[in-house]
Amino acid sequence: MKKITKILLSEKEMPRQWYNIVADMPNKPMPPLHPLTREPIGPDALAAVFPMELIKQEVSTERYIDIPDEVLDLYKIYRPSPLFRAVNLEKALGTKSKIYYKYEGGNYSGSHKANTAIAQAYYNKKEGIKRITTETGAGQWGSAMSYACHHFGLELLVFMVKVSFDQKPGRKLLMNTYGAKVIPSPSTMTAAGRKILELDPESPGSLGIAISEAMEVAVQDPYTKYSLGSVLNHVVLHQTIIGQEALIQMEKAGDYPDVVIGCFGGGSNFSGIAFPFLRENLQKGKKTRLLTVEPSSCPKLTKGKFMYDFGDSAGMTPLLPMYTLGHNFIPEKIHAGGLRYHGAGVLVSQLLKDGFIEAKAKMQRECFEGGVLFARTEGILPAPESNYAIAGALDEARKADLEGVSRTILFNLSGHGHFDISAYEKYFENNLPDHELTQAEVDEAISKIELPV
Ligand SMILES: *Cc1c(COP(=O)(O)O)cnc(C)c1O
Repeated sequence: MKKITKILLSEKEMPRQWYNIVADMPNKPMPPLHPLTREPIGPDALAAVFPMELIKQEVSTERYIDIPDEVLDLYKIYRPSPLFRAVNLEKALGTKSKIYYKYEGGNYSGSHKANTAIAQAYYNKKEGIKRITTETGAGQWGSAMSYACHHFGLELLVFMVKVSFDQKPGRKLLMNTYGAKVIPSPSTMTAAGRKILELDPESPGSLGIAISEAMEVAVQDPYTKYSLGSVLNHVVLHQTIIGQEALIQMEKAGDYPDVVIGCFGGGSNFSGIAFPFLRENLQKGKKTRLLTVEPSSCPKLTKGKFMYDFGDSAGMTPLLPMYTLGHNFIPEKIHAGGLRYHGAGVLVSQLLKDGFIEAKAKMQRECFEGGVLFARTEGILPAPESNYAIAGALDEARKADLEGVSRTILFNLSGHGHFDISAYEKYFENNLPDHELTQAEVDEAISKIELPV
């Protein structure tokens, strides 16, 4: 029998709602706190930075939220995204397991980030906003927002983490092409950036610093709002279109995953593919394992601490209950720029704490090795971030073979690596160092966390 290798959905079959895991969580997430009073903050406290509709989604307990028509119109250009069975990869491994992947790189931004960028730009435009500020690590988020903002007639100012700005000039030019302004962060444009540069003029930057800069600019003007590409509940919500589609596609393939895997930066692509399957676990007693893979050099889920901490380095966000390495932690300059974030989303953090999901950490060389094997067998060059999910999937297949069983593995291929070719060059030159943070180093970083009270 010929194996099905590509499962497509028609436009008609595309889900029309996002799924909100909060409705099904046994332990609801703890509230964000005001940093000084330590009282839970209300939605109004976020009104200076986000439009009301996104704040409502941020605190919503509704199970399903309708996707607006204007957002669906842009989704339809590139969604439903394909689900593939990686038969050539399976053959190369000689595995008894089945490996499926959902490909989110086939859109203008080259990653899953477009799914929330379009929604966020739309809600801002609807509420009369003129300009958006944001941060970007590797540049995928900035690219995703650049086109979405241009489409809806919004200006965009992007603070790009300096190490990525230097490593990935192509991403900056793509953002410029879509009409956005891009500034390397830390910059002298903001008080937060100047403070970092005073301490370390050579600072490589971090997502935490870039977020502080973007927020600082946004709060100074009522027609400017800020936008975040991961971590927050509304971002995770928008990404659930991935898993909603994948559920239907797996059914069409006549299969169901034993394990669903995503790489982990702040949690949005993992949550996007995993939460609809977690719903099936919680509501229907399915037993799918949900596995995140993070870099050993930025191991917030596997070695960090669950506590209230800031989402940015200057302490402008509310305090959020999450796994963190400390908001001042500056990760090593690994090439998966999108995974260099000190914290984790509130929903994923609570679910990890409650044992509904699993986390593991991996080194970058092994992940690139997996990425190259994937490219040579399946023909798609993965984003360095996605290589962590691939490496996680390879582990699962090899483990199953050792145990003499066949598993059905599904992972999210969160993006392509066409702008990351110099990272692959470094890998081929054997010039990609492994870096692992020890528990002692993590504990030391956490002991230095300074909170206002
Ligand atoms: C941003 C990004 C990530 C990491 O962010 P999450 O919010 O954890 O998904 C992973 N892969 C790609 C391709 C990205 O652009």
